Amino acid sequence: MRTPFIGAPKDPMSDSGEGVEIERDADEGAARAAVLRSELGLDERLLPSLRCAIRLLRAATGVANAAFVLFGQDRRPLVMTHQGDIGDAREAMFEQCLRTVKHPTGWVYRPRADTPDGRLEFFAGMPVATAGRLAHGVVCVFDARRRPFEAVARQALRDARELVEQDIRARQEASYDFLTGLYNRRHLTEALEREWRRALREQTPLSVLAVDVDHFKAFNDTYGHRGGDEALRAVAAQLRATLHRPADVLSRTGGEEFLACLGATDSNGAQRAAESMRRAVADLNMAHAGSPHERLTVSIGVATAHPAAALRCSVDDLQEAADRALYRAKHEGRNRVVAADLDATAAANDRKSA
Ligand code: GH3
Ligand code: MG
Ligand code: MG
Repeated sequence: MRTPFIGAPKDPMSDSGEGVEIERDADEGAARAAVLRSELGLDERLLPSLRCAIRLLRAATGVANAAFVLFGQDRRPLVMTHQGDIGDAREAMFEQCLRTVKHPTGWVYRPRADTPDGRLEFFAGMPVATAGRLAHGVVCVFDARRRPFEAVARQALRDARELVEQDIRARQEASYDFLTGLYNRRHLTEALEREWRRALREQTPLSVLAVDVDHFKAFNDTYGHRGGDEALRAVAAQLRATLHRPADVLSRTGGEEFLACLGATDSNGAQRAAESMRRAVADLNMAHAGSPHERLTVSIGVATAHPAAALRCSVDDLQEAADRALYRAKHEGRNRVVAADLDATAAANDRKSA
């Protein structure tokens, strides 16, 4: 099935050839959207403002084509928005975009007059900074005809870059936790609702891990707030290092509390992930004089919604089950993982509605 990877398909009313990259197939599109989310904290809501910036860029420069392209680590486009009639210049344009990435102040390309290219005779681009290390953005204008590149067009390109960078940064800041660089509660809540709908649709299990640092008040009292903040950063890095799937979402939801959402993961898988997290934090061997474990540890509550139970529960039930499991882990001595599943909640819901 060929579906648009992200954003709207071509607008049939548009005679300017406005386009959003159409991906090869749905699976690849979903994988790219997951990279966009996990690496950059971005999603398709970025597209409308990108389109405006590119439309303005084209109008201000008078060049036939303007585009924003975001390349993934594999040097293939994750997202593209474009104004103009791209003809068969696409590949040549991508090549110049990838060269632009290495030129912080911009890159202008014109083939030599004695060896005309025919498809791409003019290209000017500027790299766009993103907080992700694994993705590179470029704004550019290009044309199948040779043309000059005046100061006013150069300034328009700089302005477009500025607009796009600011928009990307603002969206990322709205999704991230400042202290640890993990996602924040807002982003996690949205991700969890999306994964819940997906689990119901695809009949896959969904797991949530509630992680809480043990005796953290005593840690702060002993090592000070700065020491506490450093410890939270170290814990966050350890938790993150144990998760490998692109769709896994890990967030700091408050103080010394973290929540992970693991799509298509059953209870066994989620308990293994939680145990790796617990061990990774204990392996930091960070001294904690106020804890009976004498080092910094976490307790983790795991809850899994299997398809049959999920139909009779809500996403809030899932989070509450993880919190209850966490409470038990605390009660049973901390530095441990306790798992719950939603079967009991589902049965209780059945009784309520009976
Ligand atoms: P338990 O093992 O039962 O989880 O005990 P606890 O002390 O970790 O739990 P409690 O909820 O009583 O205390 C949490 C403490 O975490 C309170 C505060 O001192 C500390 N804390 C919360 N947010 C931050 C933060 O952003 N930075 C720092 N340094 N400390 C924080
Ligand atoms: Mg707590
Ligand atoms: Mg705690």
